[in-house]
Amino acid sequence: MSVNSYNLFQTAQSQFDKAADLLELNSATREFLRNPMREFHFTIPIHMDNGEMKVFRAFRIQHNDARGPVEGGVRFHPMETVDTVRASAMWMTWKTAVVGVPLGGGNGGVICDPHNLSDFEQEQICRGWVRQLVKNIGPNSDISAPDIMTNSQHMLWMLDEYETILGARYPGAFTGKPIEMGGSQGRIQATGYGIMIAVREALKELNIKINGTTASFQGFGKVSYYAIELYQKMGGKVICVSTWDNNENRSFSFRKKDGINLEDLREITNIYGGINKDKAEDIGYEVLSGDAWLEQEVDILVPAAIENQITDNNTDKINKCVKIIAEGANGPTSSKADAILNKSSIFIIPDFLANAGGVICSYFEQVQNNMNYYWDKDEVLAKLDVKMATAYADVSDFSRENKLGMRDSAYVIAVDKVAQACHSRGWV
Ligand code: NAD
Repeated sequence: MSVNSYNLFQTAQSQFDKAADLLELNSATREFLRNPMREFHFTIPIHMDNGEMKVFRAFRIQHNDARGPVEGGVRFHPMETVDTVRASAMWMTWKTAVVGVPLGGGNGGVICDPHNLSDFEQEQICRGWVRQLVKNIGPNSDISAPDIMTNSQHMLWMLDEYETILGARYPGAFTGKPIEMGGSQGRIQATGYGIMIAVREALKELNIKINGTTASFQGFGKVSYYAIELYQKMGGKVICVSTWDNNENRSFSFRKKDGINLEDLREITNIYGGINKDKAEDIGYEVLSGDAWLEQEVDILVPAAIENQITDNNTDKINKCVKIIAEGANGPTSSKADAILNKSSIFIIPDFLANAGGVICSYFEQVQNNMNYYWDKDEVLAKLDVKMATAYADVSDFSRENKLGMRDSAYVIAVDKVAQACHSRGWV
């Protein structure tokens, strides 16, 4: 399913509207929160390696900064749309609020396909991104982080451009940096580990021992890889992962019923998280359709690729054994699918709670940058565990006490905090 085949922002707004109704927000607060505070739409012209000039379109959306500077990913994707970025920025506002870090919500994207760009061309895009935004971003206003098809190198190029223009060091302006350049230990693991901390807590509530459970994943990128790593360490077995094949322009699922081997698969995966189909077959994986990951007889499904993947067209394919869906990606479940799943016995850990580990650790990275003193990996991961488990418990307790689903509960908690911050500041 392509990234822009439906409007993600409308989904995000309708989820917000439901929370606003539950909270009985006044009309000005609704109007204020259901739209971004600021939007930047711009172009980045670069010299391609073949001497041509090419112009890339880009967006940075600052949804809300009432609780602190906005923080959010920068995505490189050929199908990027402003509405996808708006939705992701809005979800980041709720994410930072639900886990209680003093940040707001933002997101950005460049319409480009890194598969077809050299490193030098990507560096030019990163530097061009900063040149266009320099007056409107920074450690106290808008902080960027890696997202789809961006990584620590992109963050470092952006930081270098930012610091070169301003003539001083501002390491907290970009997070997800390489560790030796002001990055945090544990940042690369944080989103994936955070998902599995939430799954661990959910399994406890459902009285299921994690040891012996099985899972199937969509995506084998930065998020999935580390989620699988922690899940396997905790005793779970992953039998299927699905990834995008850029040569064939479609996705495939890779299944091994006795459990995938993380390192073997990593060796045949490109830097964008695409598994080589022929090599996978050679090392004993069944190669199945892109949707097959969803149909597996497993306890846990983790959509951790892109948005709008579980829809009213495929919810009936979800196996009856599935007990938990932990949303690793932003917006993987459409509103219609969500309504169907809410009537089933499947327990959903909603995206902006499940995948909050990344922003929690971005916040830790900033704290370390400000102190210029760095924690070791165990310390970072222990702090991550406490924050994720606490946020999970808050949402789960609220859900039980108010007889609301996990998504609605997370929304009510988050929107209430942000609305209160806006009221306290006297904005609405
Ligand atoms: P990534 O680019 O590292 O990996 C994406 C993975 O998804 C790759 O394996 C790719 O092959 C796969 N994929 C893409 N389209 C697919 C399709 N149609 N079918 C099957 N597989 C497909 O990205 P990531 O950083 O792992 O992010 C994954 C998701 O998690 C995104 O929705 C992102 O916004 C969200 N997220 C990421 C972070 C983070 O810290 N990186 C934090 C929060 C949320």
